[in-house]
Amino acid sequence: MTVPERIALARTPTPLVHLPRTSAHLDVEFWIKRDDMTGLELSGNKVRKLEFLLADAGAEGADHVITCGGEQSNHCRATAMAATTLGMGSTVLLRTLDPSSPPATTGNILLDRLAGAEIVWISHDQYRNRHALMAEHAARLSGQGRTPYVIPEGGSNAVGAWGYVTCAGELRREIAAMPPMPTTVIHACGSGGTSAGLALGSVMTDFAAIQTRVACINVCDDRDYFVDIIDRICGEFRDRYGEGGGADAGAIEIIDGYVGRGYARSQPAELEVLHDLARREAIVLDPVYSGKAFYGLTRELARDPERFGKRVVFVHTGGLFGLFPVADELAPLL
Ligand SMILES: *Cc1c(COP(=O)(O)O)cnc(C)c1O
Repeated sequence: MTVPERIALARTPTPLVHLPRTSAHLDVEFWIKRDDMTGLELSGNKVRKLEFLLADAGAEGADHVITCGGEQSNHCRATAMAATTLGMGSTVLLRTLDPSSPPATTGNILLDRLAGAEIVWISHDQYRNRHALMAEHAARLSGQGRTPYVIPEGGSNAVGAWGYVTCAGELRREIAAMPPMPTTVIHACGSGGTSAGLALGSVMTDFAAIQTRVACINVCDDRDYFVDIIDRICGEFRDRYGEGGGADAGAIEIIDGYVGRGYARSQPAELEVLHDLARREAIVLDPVYSGKAFYGLTRELARDPERFGKRVVFVHTGGLFGLFPVADELAPLL
C-alpha cells in the first residue's frame, strides 16, 4: 500500500498490553491496544486521523481548521491541540442543549480554550446542518484573509481513515507475533471513521491470514446508519487512493444494542464496569465511547464466552478528559 503524506503527531506504535487479571475475569485472553496513549493533550484515536488530515490541510495551504462535535468532543479537542502544535488556528462548532447558556469550562472544553480554539456553540437542530454551517465559517475566515480547511465530524472521511488503516498494519504485525488463535479486535464506533479505517486495513493487510476479525460496538445511532457511513468512507477511499478494493462495512461486525440511554448518556451498569476495570488494572475508560463499548463486550461474553474467539484485543480509543465532567454521576459508585 502507498501511504500518503502524514505529519507525525501521534506516539505510535501504541502499547499492546496483556491483562491477566481481566483475562481470568472474562475467561478469554484479553489484550488492550492503548490508543489512549497516542499522546497527552493529543490522546485518543483522533490524532491518528489528524496526522493525515492536517498533512492534507497543509498541502492545500491551510492556516486554520474548522471542525465540529458534541460539547465534550475529544475530536475537537485533539484538532484544536494539533492545530496549535502546527501553528494553525482552529474553530470548533460544539453542539449543546442551549447555546445561549453553554456548559461549564471543564474536561475537553477547558482544553479547547487553553489551545486557543474559537468555540462556536450550536444547538442540536443547527448541528444537523453542520456541513453548511462549517462552510459559512470557512467563507467568513476566507473573507478575513485566512485559508481554512474543514474537517468533518470525528475526522471521519477517506483521508482520516488512513489513521486506522495504518493502525491495522500495527495490529497485524503485533498479532502475527503472538501464538496463533482466533482473535477479535473490538472498538467503540461513534462517527464511523475508526471502523472504516480498520475495515479497510483488515482487508488490505489480510487479517484473515492471522485468524483475526474486527468488531465494533456503536455508541449512538444504529447498525444501518453505520453500514451506510462505513460503506461511503470505503468507497471514497477507493476512489481517491485506488486502494482497499473489496473492503466495506461487511468486513467488520457491527454490534448494535449498547447505545443505552443515548449518546453521551450513561447508565449505572456502564459506569460500574468502568470502575471495575480502573480498580483491577488502573486503566481508565471514558463514559461516552470506550466505557460503553467495554460494557457491551462484557455483556456479549457473559451471553456467549466463545463469541469473540479465544483472544480479544480491545482498542482503548481514549477520552479520559470526558470523565471529569461526569464526576458527580460516578461519585455514588466510589
Ligand atoms: C471519537 C471517539 C471514538 C469513536 O471513533 P469514531 O472514529 O468517531 O467512530 C471512540 N472513542 C473515543 C474516546 C472517541 O473520542
